[in-house]
Amino acid sequence: MTASAPLDGGRLRALIRAIPDFPEPGILFRDITPLLHDPDGLRQTNDALAEVARDYGATLVAGIEARGFIFGVPVAERLGVPFVPMRKPGKLPADRASVAYELEYGSAALELHRDPSVDGHRVAIVDDLIATGGTAEAAAQLVAGLGGEVAGFAFVVELAELGGRDRLAPHGVTSLVTYQGAE
Ligand code: AMP
Repeated sequence: MTASAPLDGGRLRALIRAIPDFPEPGILFRDITPLLHDPDGLRQTNDALAEVARDYGATLVAGIEARGFIFGVPVAERLGVPFVPMRKPGKLPADRASVAYELEYGSAALELHRDPSVDGHRVAIVDDLIATGGTAEAAAQLVAGLGGEVAGFAFVVELAELGGRDRLAPHGVTSLVTYQGAE
């Protein structure tokens, strides 16, 4: 078996493609499906995210629907800590908390079960991508509202020009690949 190439920024960039004008004109969509199609790249991405969460001292991982589940579960499994899904409204069956937030057009909400609980945990929040940071900020409010301490955020992709990380201060924000504009 040959050793896999290390996951440097260039290799990861090559596994993320840019699709113009999706889901609407003017949006450059960063598509991670080529990364999911590459077993080595995916494993190394999850290893790198797990390292970030370990450095945060996370005792629980929270993933944001839906692509945050793809990366959040392997991170939790690598750390040997619980995973909780933060879901769009109407998906969680048991007693739950909800936080609404603003999108560019309209609004959205995230929900989290009260039990199993984040209470007393140091929580690493995982998603595939940070753009404006609104979704991640809502996730942090949800965790804090249920007694969790936000340990930090881990993303595969950061769209730096949108300034999302400033919105999440003073929490730690780590992303594996950062884009400036349409590069
Ligand atoms: P935001 O709340 O603006 O940080 O948006 C983050 C969420 O929207 C993440 O769950 C992303 O999956 C998704 N998202 C926003 N912008 C993009 C983009 N340009 N390409 C891919 N996904 C995006």
